[in-house]
Amino acid sequence: MTDAPAAHQEGALGESPREDERSEILGLTRAKLVETLGETIDRPFRADQIYEAIYRQGKTDFEEMTTLGKDLRESLGRKFRIGVPAEADRHPSADGTVKYLFRLADGATIEAVDIPDRGRRTLCISSQAGCALACAFCVTGYWGAGRNLTPAEIVGQVLAIRRRQEGGSGPEPLNLVFMGMGEPLQNLEALHASLRVLTELVSWRRITVSTVGIVPGIRKLASWEKRPNLAVSLHAPDDARRDLIMPVNRTYPLADLLAALEEYPLERRRRITIEYLLIRDFNDAPSDAEALARLLGDLPVKINLIPVNPDPVLGERMVPPPDDRVDAFAERLRRRSYVATVRRRRGDDVSAACGQLRAPGREPRGFRQGALSW
Ligand code: SF4
Repeated sequence: MTDAPAAHQEGALGESPREDERSEILGLTRAKLVETLGETIDRPFRADQIYEAIYRQGKTDFEEMTTLGKDLRESLGRKFRIGVPAEADRHPSADGTVKYLFRLADGATIEAVDIPDRGRRTLCISSQAGCALACAFCVTGYWGAGRNLTPAEIVGQVLAIRRRQEGGSGPEPLNLVFMGMGEPLQNLEALHASLRVLTELVSWRRITVSTVGIVPGIRKLASWEKRPNLAVSLHAPDDARRDLIMPVNRTYPLADLLAALEEYPLERRRRITIEYLLIRDFNDAPSDAEALARLLGDLPVKINLIPVNPDPVLGERMVPPPDDRVDAFAERLRRRSYVATVRRRRGDDVSAACGQLRAPGREPRGFRQGALSW
């Protein structure tokens, strides 16, 4: 991408250095796994057994794979690793949400969130160890850029949480949302590789990738043969206000973003999710709901309204509107025939709610409070 925001062109994003010299097999497709295991396995179906053990049974240690002979298990363990990230901390919330802090092989930390909801679990997964895009409502952005995660590190978050859930491979069906730390469309290659593996566990229709509107990334996603659901963070009905809270809008303004969404191929009965953060006295007026409806026009969308989650580092302007104002905003959109929902806050008592994920231990780069002078 040639015109990505500057902070993402600075080489901060690279492969994770590894002290462990064994080859990583987590995140490899079946075909790649056969190729990588090579002569270590006597017959190709061994790769299928390993694949099933990892992704269906949640086994992340060769020693647990008792369908393989002892010699083979030892030989695999010497040459290959299944690099599930180490759990550094875990914060259960009063509402059942659990926030995980994972430490990666190079010491970088990332967070992921497990959100139980009416017989399903939604796992909110990170795609980068930080984020350079500096959205004003996001704690990850406040802490600054981090490197891209590898496919193994993305897949590993899911497996690590799955192992924690009852029964090892998890008791309930999953939804996966790429709404954790980082902008997934700035790590498209690893995202694609990890989705090819994760769809062994979860169907494409149960996976949502959320972007702040990286237009070339959306166009690339549109070209994939199979696609996850797409969610787009809009958060303001015009460029002037979007510029204030989302610097990425200066690179990909609303007209370009909406043009990409108009061309985005959708399967029957699918819609793009528009995420709209409601910030008191900034973008929550009845006239803003009307402006949003005009902006979206006939796009096949559903609108998810999210009262902003305050956080001490975000400053005093990032406060949610009162409930009646949120409801009135949603109602106006519904009167314009949009499906509009309000996202309940989950896990905010442990800073696991939207926009609250961070990488503790890093120096924050600070925040552009001057920009927030509406
Ligand atoms: S909202 Fe997403 S893109 Fe924006 S700073 Fe946070 S992680 Fe980055």
